[in-house]
This record gives sequence, C-alpha cells and structure tokens, in this order.
Amino acid sequence: MTDLVVRNARLLDRDDLVDLVADDGRWTQVGPDLAVDAEREIDAAGRLVTAPLVDCHLHLDASLTAGRPRFNASGTLIEGIHVWGELKESLTVDDVYERAKEIVRWSAAQGTLYIRAHADVSAKNEAPVRGLLRLRDELADLVTIQVTAFPQDGLYSDPRNEGLFERAIELGVDCLGGIPHYEPTAELGLAEVHRVFDLAARHKRRIDVHCDETDDPASRFLEVMADDTVRHGLSGRVTASHCTAMGSYEPYYSSKLHGFLRRAGINIVVNPFANSLIQGRLDPYPKRRGFAQLKELLAAGVNVSLGNDVIMDPWYLLGRADMVEAASLALHFTYMSGLDEIPEMLRCATERGARTLGVEDEYGIEEGKPADCVVFDAPSALEVLRLHPARRWVVRRGRVIAETEPSHTTLLGEPVTFRPPL
Ligand SMILES: [Zn+2]
Repeated sequence: MTDLVVRNARLLDRDDLVDLVADDGRWTQVGPDLAVDAEREIDAAGRLVTAPLVDCHLHLDASLTAGRPRFNASGTLIEGIHVWGELKESLTVDDVYERAKEIVRWSAAQGTLYIRAHADVSAKNEAPVRGLLRLRDELADLVTIQVTAFPQDGLYSDPRNEGLFERAIELGVDCLGGIPHYEPTAELGLAEVHRVFDLAARHKRRIDVHCDETDDPASRFLEVMADDTVRHGLSGRVTASHCTAMGSYEPYYSSKLHGFLRRAGINIVVNPFANSLIQGRLDPYPKRRGFAQLKELLAAGVNVSLGNDVIMDPWYLLGRADMVEAASLALHFTYMSGLDEIPEMLRCATERGARTLGVEDEYGIEEGKPADCVVFDAPSALEVLRLHPARRWVVRRGRVIAETEPSHTTLLGEPVTFRPPL
C-alpha cells in the first residue's frame, strides 16, 4: 500500500494522461494506468497537474500592514518607502511572524510551496529578519522559504546600515539583497553591488538584488551585476529583481545587455503587481510600461520568473498571494499572449522559479523527487491563465494539504461554466 496516487493527471509536457504515485514523501512512479493501491486516491480527471507554484519575490515583513501608520496617498514607490520607514522601527518579531504566516497560508492553499522572502535589514530593529527566519524554520514542512537580507534604505545612506546587513548574515539569511539605484550616488550604488558580491562569495550565500527599479534609462547596475557574477564564478546563484529600467533601454543597449545576462547565468524576477502601478506613473502620455523585457530575455536564453512582491502593504492595497494572477498580469504587460507563450508564462511561475531559487534538483514531477504538486481545475495552461481556476488539490511531500471546491454559477437556473460548449 502506497501513500497517495493522483489518477489521470495531464502534465504540461506530454499529451497522454498519467498516474502519479507517492510514497514516503517522494514520487515513486509516473506513468499511464498504474496498478497500485494507495491510502489516498485522487482523480484529476484530465486536469492540469504541475509542480508547485514558486513565488520568487515577496516582502513578507510588510504584508498586511496597509494603513499603518497611514496610507500611501500618492501611490509612488518613494512614498511607500517613507510610510514603511515610519512603521518598521516599531515592529515586533511576533507581529512580523503572524502577518507573514497568514500570507504563507494563503500561498500554500493556492499551490505556492516555494517562496523567496525579503526582510528589511536597514531598520534599526531586527524584528523583520528575526520574524521571517522564525517563519522559515517553523513552516519548513509546509512551504520552503528563503529569506533575503534586503537593505531597503541602502548600505551607505546611513553609517549603521552596513553593520546591520552583516548582522543579518550572522543571523542566518539565505540570500543577500541590495538596492543600488537607491544609494545617494551612482558611485555608492556601484560600491554597494561590489560589496554584496564580496560578502555573498565569502559567506556562501545566494544573491537577490533589487536592481534598477526605476524608470531612469541611465540606471544600469544590472550590467555590473552580470560582470561581478562572472568574476566571482557565481553563475546560477545570482538574481536581479524588478529591473524596470529595462523598459526604458533603447534597442542597441538592450541586445548587448541580454548577451551579458545570458553569459553570466543571472536570473531575472518580474514583479507585475507593484511595477504595473508604480512605473511610468510620473510620465505624461504616452506612458512607459516599466517592465523588464521578459519576452526578449526568454528568447535570449535568460531565466525569468515571477513574484507577488507586495500584498496589502504601503505599496499596494490589493493582492491575494496568487501566482496565477501574477503570471496573468505579466502576460499582458509583456505581450506573452501567443499559443506557445502562454504555457511559458506558467513555467515562469513554476519551474523557472525553482531555477531562480536553486531548488531545481529537488523539484518537479519525476520519480525520486519530492511528491509536491498542484491540481488546477482546468485542463491546460491556456485555461489556467484564462480562468484563474481553483487549485482543486495541493500536495506537499505526498500529503494533500489543501483542497478547494470549485465555485458553481447558475443563470436562470442553468449552469454557466465560462467554458465553450463542447
Ligand atoms: Zn521588491
């Protein structure tokens, strides 16, 4: 008797339906019509089943603080940073932990079982990083969380900040972050990038820097990150997040940059919720979109993934921790609407995210890998991106951890399915 079998699953990369068998937390068999008895049997009935969704960028320390101590009236990135600055020194570890835990519950219930979180370490208060490290360790059986030390105010805007950043390394963060475009001068931004790489190499941590999150086409720290990645031999271990200035780069520089990024093996993370509202905001019409060049980066062989970034916080009043919504929004802003491009968007929210986090060896629906999956209440990536369907079941380490009953609508007593008639 095995632990679990998921019958009649449709996978992204094959046409026939397969059964997925889990035992002791790992997939033991994947194939059609498998003769096994299991403690728990689920019939996916032709629904799409993928490995878990991956949220590559989430400011969990700020989630659910919208309105504390006041709302962001202008909607700009800068006012959001100021509002957050008014709150963060007063946060407690318990407050950070409880709010972040609630968002992790929302995430897991919708099939997101991997999250890279950012903890602000430029507060003179260790509550953000301590709260998220506690969350990572206590919820490890439910969701795999990586914590990034994020110096929201820069490393050099205050003489104490560099020490606070190094203190977060001692406390045990997984990744080192940065924000070079927010340093007082471009020279200090360059110094920050080099410092982050030196520390990451010395302490053997991954890197995930907020890079060029601006509409300024002269903000070009990404090329410096690419060069430092090659110099330190850190290919695959470095991520640049947001990179919205790329939406204002002209074609010649863009194509040159794509080559640098591919050569360096850097991951790029697009965060569609906040950046669709913040970037281009101060432009007169026509307004810029302010997104990293997702479609062109994929074509150039650069790994791109996605994040929720902000949920009910000083930057964004909305959000419900759904990576399918993030993929759908990014699809629209980056023109990824072709028949073959839509499944690729779902890969940006799943397997490409796993590559960004560096967990790909223990991720995927393959024999021997951890038995994690999401059963979408839809048969294809196209239908997932169109309908944002319920996650019918979510499986973690061979155990069903979440179930959702799909909603049911009637019109004049007749069912409405939002699907074309057969
Ligand atoms: Zn961010």
